[in-house]
Amino acid sequence: MMPYIITAMAIALAGAVVLHWRWRQRCELLERELARERQALGESRQQREEDIAQKQAEQQTLFNSMAEGVLVLDEAGRVQLVNRSLQKFFGLKADVRGQTIMEAFRLQELAELWRRLPEERIVEGRELELPGVNGRWMEVNAAAVVDRAGTQYGAILVFHDLTRLKQLENTRQEFVANVSHELRTPLSLIKGFVETLLDGAKSDPELATRFLRTIEKHTDRLTYLIEDLLTVSRLESGQIVMNLHPVELREEAAQVLDDLQSRAAEKNVTLENSVPAGLQANADADRLQQVLFNLVENAIKYGRADGRVTMGGKSVADGKVELWVHDDGPGIPVEAKERVFERFYRVDRARSRETGGTGLGLAIVKHIVQAHGGEVWVKSDLGQGTTFFCTLLQG
Ligand code: ADP
Repeated sequence: MMPYIITAMAIALAGAVVLHWRWRQRCELLERELARERQALGESRQQREEDIAQKQAEQQTLFNSMAEGVLVLDEAGRVQLVNRSLQKFFGLKADVRGQTIMEAFRLQELAELWRRLPEERIVEGRELELPGVNGRWMEVNAAAVVDRAGTQYGAILVFHDLTRLKQLENTRQEFVANVSHELRTPLSLIKGFVETLLDGAKSDPELATRFLRTIEKHTDRLTYLIEDLLTVSRLESGQIVMNLHPVELREEAAQVLDDLQSRAAEKNVTLENSVPAGLQANADADRLQQVLFNLVENAIKYGRADGRVTMGGKSVADGKVELWVHDDGPGIPVEAKERVFERFYRVDRARSRETGGTGLGLAIVKHIVQAHGGEVWVKSDLGQGTTFFCTLLQG
C-alpha cells in the first residue's frame, strides 16, 4: 500500500509543482504585460502632453505673429494669454497671466466689456483710447468662449490699432479746415471790393482801377493756392513720378536766378551763383527747378532789402551732393525752424500774405527732395540770415 501512497503523493506533488510553475509563469507574463501596458500608457500620456505643448507653442507663435493684439481670459476673467502685439500696445513689461483685467490693464472700459459678454456673447467695434501720453487708439472685438451646453468658460478679445487711422483723420480734418480758411480770406476780400464797386465806386475810374487791381491780386493768390494744393496732393499721393537724369546743377541754378532776377531787383537784392561747374545730381530737372525757385524766392521775399542771396553746392559723403540757398535776412526763430516745412505754417502770417505766399512752398520743397531720396533742413540764427540745405544723389 505504502508505495502507492508515496507514488500518488509524488504525482500530486509533481502536479502541484507544475501548477505552481505554470501559475508563476502566468503571473510573470501578466506582470510583463502590465508593465508593457503601463509603459505604453506612460508613453501615450507623454506623447499627449508633448502634443498639447506643441499645439500651445504653435498657437502662441500664431498669436505672436499677428499685428492685432490678442487677449484670452478664463471663466473668472483672469488673463490666460497675451500676445506680443498686445504687450507692445499696452507697454506691458511683466507677465500678467493670472491677473484680472483691471490689475493687468487698468482700463475700466475693458472690464466693462468683459462684464457685458455673458449676456451679449459678442461685442464688436468698441473704440478705446489707451492711457498714456502718446494717445493710442484701439478697436476691440470681444467674443465669449462657450461649451456645448452654452456655458461661458472664457473670452477672446482682439485689439486693432486705430492710432494711425485716427491721426490721418485728424490731419485730413486739419487740412480741410486750413484750406477752407486759406480760400475764404481772399474770397471775402474779393467780395468786399466787388460790392464796393457795385455800390458806386465804379463811377470813380481811378478808385475803380485800384480796386480791380486788388481783386486781380487776390484772384492770383487763389490761383497760386490751388496750383500749390494740387502739387502737394499729387506729390503726397505719389502721382508725380520723378524723371531722373544727371543734371548740371550750376546750369539749373543759373536758370532759376535768371527767372527771379526782376523780383530781386525790386528789392535791390544781389543774386549770386556759387554752385561749382561740373557738379551733377541725379534729378528731375523740372522738379529741381521748382525746389530751387521756391527757396530763392523765399530768400528774396523774407531776406532783407539791399541784401544778397547765394546759391552754392558741393559733393558730400555717400555719393551725395549738397545744395544750399543762403540769405542775409532776419533769420527764422528757433521754435519755427522745425515747423517751416509744415503745410500752411508761416512765421509771420501777414508778411507771407502780403508777399503772395501760399504757405505751401516749403512743404512742396520737402516732398520733391524726399522723392529724390534726399533730405532738406534749415540753419538759421536770428539776425544772422538763413540757409536752406538739401541733399540729392550724385549724377
Ligand atoms: P510761404 O508761401 O508763406 O512763403 P513757405 O512754405 O515757402 O510758405 O514758407 C513757410 C514760412 O517759412 C514762411 O511764411 C516764412 O515765415 C518762413 N521762411 C521761409 N523761408 C524763409 C527765409 N529765407 N527767411 C526767413 N523766413 C523764411
